[in-house]
Amino acid sequence: MAVTLSTPIQFLKGVGERRASQFARLGITDIGALLRHYPRQYEDWSNTVTIAAAPLGEPCCIKATALTAPQEHRVRKGLSLFKFTVSDGISILHITLFNNKYAAAKIKVGGEYLFFGTVTAGGRRMEMASPLIEPAQGGARIRPIYPQTEGLTSRMIESAMANALLALDRELDQDPLPPTIRQEHTLCTRRYALENIHFPTGQEALAVARRRLVFEELLLLQLGLLRLKGRTRSRTGAVLTGDFTEEYVKLLPFTLTGAQTRAIADCVRDMQGECPMSRLVQGDVGSGKTAVAAGVAYTAVRNGFQAAMMAPTEILAEQHAKSLSKLLEPGEIRVGLLTGSMSVAKKRELLAFVATGQIDFLIGTHALLSEGVEFRRLGLVITDEQHRFGVGQRAALAAKGVNPHLLVMSATPIPRTLALILYGDLDVSILDELPPGRRPIETYAVGSVKRERAYGYVRKHLDQGRQGYIVCPLVEEGETDLISATEYVGKLAAGPFKNYTLGLLHGKMKPMEKERVMADFAGNRIQLLVSTTVVEVGVDVPNAVIMVIENAERFGLAQLHQLRGRVGRGQYQSTCILISDAQNEEAVRRLRVMCQTNDGFKIADEDLKLRGPGDFFGSRQHGLPNLKIADLMGDMPLFREAQEAAQALIAADPALEQPENSLLQKEVQRLFNQVGESGLN
Ligand code: ADP
Ligand code: MG
Repeated sequence: MAVTLSTPIQFLKGVGERRASQFARLGITDIGALLRHYPRQYEDWSNTVTIAAAPLGEPCCIKATALTAPQEHRVRKGLSLFKFTVSDGISILHITLFNNKYAAAKIKVGGEYLFFGTVTAGGRRMEMASPLIEPAQGGARIRPIYPQTEGLTSRMIESAMANALLALDRELDQDPLPPTIRQEHTLCTRRYALENIHFPTGQEALAVARRRLVFEELLLLQLGLLRLKGRTRSRTGAVLTGDFTEEYVKLLPFTLTGAQTRAIADCVRDMQGECPMSRLVQGDVGSGKTAVAAGVAYTAVRNGFQAAMMAPTEILAEQHAKSLSKLLEPGEIRVGLLTGSMSVAKKRELLAFVATGQIDFLIGTHALLSEGVEFRRLGLVITDEQHRFGVGQRAALAAKGVNPHLLVMSATPIPRTLALILYGDLDVSILDELPPGRRPIETYAVGSVKRERAYGYVRKHLDQGRQGYIVCPLVEEGETDLISATEYVGKLAAGPFKNYTLGLLHGKMKPMEKERVMADFAGNRIQLLVSTTVVEVGVDVPNAVIMVIENAERFGLAQLHQLRGRVGRGQYQSTCILISDAQNEEAVRRLRVMCQTNDGFKIADEDLKLRGPGDFFGSRQHGLPNLKIADLMGDMPLFREAQEAAQALIAADPALEQPENSLLQKEVQRLFNQVGESGLN
């Protein structure tokens, strides 16, 4: 039977049913999956060193001849040492094997071997304990080390891999990457890539092979995303001609940062094109995304179009409406606010203005999506806090115009690579610069013994007229080790904060109740807001200057950063106190990162390093396939290349149905079959 990529692994030479079940534990059921089981690292047996030149304490490979046969020393029951000496013709090396009768028996005096291990020096005596040993002939190569599982060693996987490559033979020459793409991006063939990723003929060959496989994987990912998100680049009904940014800048009470200027320019350039803009503006808390949105809206309106902005909560919508009308009304832009809780009469009046074009910029909650909302000439749709809206909601709002431009704003700093993947259908502008004069939030991590002192510090700020937050862990059934929020706030109100007005916010409250509490806090009718993580939503209360986070180890870095971003929004120096008794290394490291930096992008990078991309944006949560070889952090330049290639391919052959793309299409399907299409939004 001819072996193909879809042949079950148990039919491979040397693999039976039992071994096949071990492979299955690694997720390998067919030959194709075996070939995608890439080495986790390599041992370079091709670069041998002399005994004298061996770096102490680091693995290296030494070619030497056995001078003596291994001698067995029984140290005690169950422990035998085998000792022998070898020489490279100049120096002598003493080798010790532990309980390895099998390896010892293979050593013949006068035979030449490769010893891969770590050299240590005991005085002038050079030693190597438990090296890996291969006959010198044919052994001097780069050897793959595979992720293994119980009963299945790297060496066994290596031999299965060699058999698979041999058995496949001709099928290896069927390359999913069309020759034109390979040429354009200087990529090797699939055969070369697979042979050399597993059995590199040298370091350079390995790099060439890896480059090709990373490119292929990222290309498949991009193709899948582009296709699933159905980006048919139709013509927009709102091609803008003029750029009114200069006029807008004059309205501002401050000077735009460089990053803000660039983001606005990116958007204006997009909107002057034939196709609708789809752009994500990503900025850390306080980076001034609202001023960017306002600037983009300003130019759209000056070109005769209407703009709409959707916020995830009423309170955020109200805040935006207030600050945007203050900013834009002097520039003769008429701003309106639409929320679900407006009276019917007011709503009707407002909607009439929207329909006739007397409102230029409509801000609201998802109420904007309701049926009665009709625009005269909607040219720009803005959504704030991206993670709260699905692709579907964005599309529903966009449907109220003729392919209007779309601007998505996100306050969740994520590494650029991930942003490009998660928002594969959007172009990205990053606000990586804060307005000048911002004072970083001072952050301290303390043990619970200092809790009373932390409370005292909070009281001091409240006494000065400021406000604060205390964040306690989630209210959940069965969390016996954590005081529930209600209980906790009761204790605070009876004890350390007896003379202060407290508010409580938790996840089980109805939206209306939450909004009321938030409005009371924003209006300074609540001094200290005790809350679970629901406070995360981007509310701006500049008078709040202190935050205490209980059980800080229970939160991820990104979440801590979002929480902390609720303070430090005004002219006052702000403080964040993280309370935790956690001892484990990762938690300690996380808290230390928080104390060291205020930079959300740095924190996101650290988060990614600590948790890995799989976890950071777990495939289940975000519907992205697992990447086998590409490293999202390290392979950025290649990612861009792959993205461009994907766009070009889709532009020329949207359904990938041309014969030269059929293998590629099959591979995209295979990659995305793991997650199912529904996960992708
Ligand atoms: P976010 O990106 O978190 O939404 P905002 O848009 O709410 O940030 O801006 C935070 C604050 O910074 C606002 O009070 C805003 O007026 C102010 N701001 C924005 N841009 C600048 C700037 N270039 N210079 C000074 N202050 C700015
Ligand atoms: Mg904001």
